Amino acid sequence: METIIMRGKPVADAYREKLAAKIAAAGKRGIKVTLAIVLVGDDSASHVYTERLSKLTVSLGADVRVVKLPAATTEGEVLRTIGALNADAGVQGILPMMPMPRHINSDAVGAAVAAEKDMDCLNPVNSGAVFLGRSSMAPCTPRACMAILDYYGIDPTGKHAVVLGRSNVVGKPAAVLLLQKNATVTVCHSRTADLTYILRQADIIVAAVGIPGFVTADMVKPGAVVVDVGINAVDGGIVGDVAPEATELAYAYTPVPGGVGVVSNMMVMECLTRNI
Ligand code: NAP
Repeated sequence: METIIMRGKPVADAYREKLAAKIAAAGKRGIKVTLAIVLVGDDSASHVYTERLSKLTVSLGADVRVVKLPAATTEGEVLRTIGALNADAGVQGILPMMPMPRHINSDAVGAAVAAEKDMDCLNPVNSGAVFLGRSSMAPCTPRACMAILDYYGIDPTGKHAVVLGRSNVVGKPAAVLLLQKNATVTVCHSRTADLTYILRQADIIVAAVGIPGFVTADMVKPGAVVVDVGINAVDGGIVGDVAPEATELAYAYTPVPGGVGVVSNMMVMECLTRNI
């Protein structure tokens, strides 16, 4: 059987019309839906991400307000900026670009975003609600992974899902969402012993390790589903966390680029429209 390439575009497109219609309907009620992006410093990936997200926001008929602050901005100033956006009735969503410069406590910035305007589940109130199963608004990237599985007809129920990575923004919430969909979940990280053995047990692998080609062919059970979250800049291009020869064994896999990333951006848009 031919391997299914789980491209992100059709998944994102399936959301596009619905979200644009919601934004247009809000416009008729006099609400100009607006996303505020807070970009501190010169992180090049954050600048690229801001540009892509801005284009997408505008293409759906919403507005974007990019608040650019120099790298030397103090934590207090960033918190005041977030506070002003929280209080601004003309802003529906706030996304501070991470990572912040090192002198700024990213957790404090995330926690300062009003829960109802929090676009990537940075406020612990929101992550707590996701953990308790009381909110569907987990961080955008793990939600994108789930949207892709759903679109391509892959039901995690009863499957052994192995999540590689335990960050707060990808690995941990991905594990929670897979659990909610009735998978049996194992989470691996840098201290995991015998990673290859564990990965080979997986019916579904979610790779979020941030190391190019980390998942090799010997780690993948033939017929497994492989979701590659990795975005790694290599030789002027982007590669994932899964080596190309490992995807050949899969029943289905997400390409990089063109997989999770595209859907992830659309999940920000879904979050932006949740309260309108
Ligand atoms: P992160 O915070 O750096 O976390 C990486 C995780 O990988 C950590 O849990 C770490 O374990 C684990 N790890 C590192 N080396 C390992 C090893 N040798 N063996 C096993 N586990 C290891 O990264 P992240 O923010 O979760 O992002 C992961 C990747 O996804 C990156 O490539 C990032 O660019 C990409 N990403 C993509 C999107 C998208 O929209 N597609 C969005 C966000 C991130 P410890 O916890 O033990 O250190």
